Amino acid sequence: MRIEILGTGASEGIPAVYCECAICREAARRGGKNIRSRASLMVGEKHKVDLPPDTFLHSLRRGKPFSQVEHLFFTHSHPDHFYPHSLRLRARTFAYIESPRPLHIYGNETIEEGLKGALGSPLPEGLVFHSIEVFRSFDAGDLDVIPVKASHKANELCLNYAFMSRGKGFLQAFDTGWYPDDTWNALRGLLLDAAIIECTAGKLDEPPTAHLGVKPLIRMKEKLIEERALRDNARVIATHLCHMGGLLHEELEHALLPAGIEVAYDGMLVEI
Ligand SMILES: [Zn+2]
Ligand SMILES: [Zn+2]
Ligand SMILES: [Zn+2]
Repeated sequence: MRIEILGTGASEGIPAVYCECAICREAARRGGKNIRSRASLMVGEKHKVDLPPDTFLHSLRRGKPFSQVEHLFFTHSHPDHFYPHSLRLRARTFAYIESPRPLHIYGNETIEEGLKGALGSPLPEGLVFHSIEVFRSFDAGDLDVIPVKASHKANELCLNYAFMSRGKGFLQAFDTGWYPDDTWNALRGLLLDAAIIECTAGKLDEPPTAHLGVKPLIRMKEKLIEERALRDNARVIATHLCHMGGLLHEELEHALLPAGIEVAYDGMLVEI
């Protein structure tokens, strides 16, 4: 499986557009891996998680359009993950696609309502919405998918996904705090090869109710291995990083590499 991490920032990205904090200023000065657009990832060319407002930037950076994506998985409706206007740009007026295939979209009820509100109901031709039943696995193109419950927003069922294909698999784990018991039950024994987990809170010592910081992320890795959700030597990669967490890329590496956790950067490729 080839995973391309398109964006690794939280809601406001780094450097945040209106922010004068020391992290944003220093990130802008250093550039490179410290510049973080909003979170999204691809699995191969056909599967994508989330549609942030930085989709145009992501297509520029990768040097190709998203016209080959056939399966789009939404985690939740926060605007750094769900910017439905971009889907309008897939219509004929805005896009020429040589062999157009339907785009299957997976998400919760809030996403369905948001899509219909933004794009009309029924949805435009070529967009097929699938309502997700949490913990019920399904096939999507090349992938077997298990949607699990994240701990993130009180009034919305936020989702994370385990993606598997041909004996390999990984867990997508943003945005979330510490998982609830039923999610641990669903992940137990999967023996996945990688996990891409958020670290929004960085060095802040906050209870992991809606996000994870460095310490809860390290505990999360240990628990995933203990529950055999991950193989012993699985890759664990931190993403969804925020200036509020108070750590630059190099400082995050200093905090996480000793625990065997890599730090993602925009454009990172992960082969499992
Ligand atoms: Zn987010
Ligand atoms: Zn800032
Ligand atoms: Zn969120």
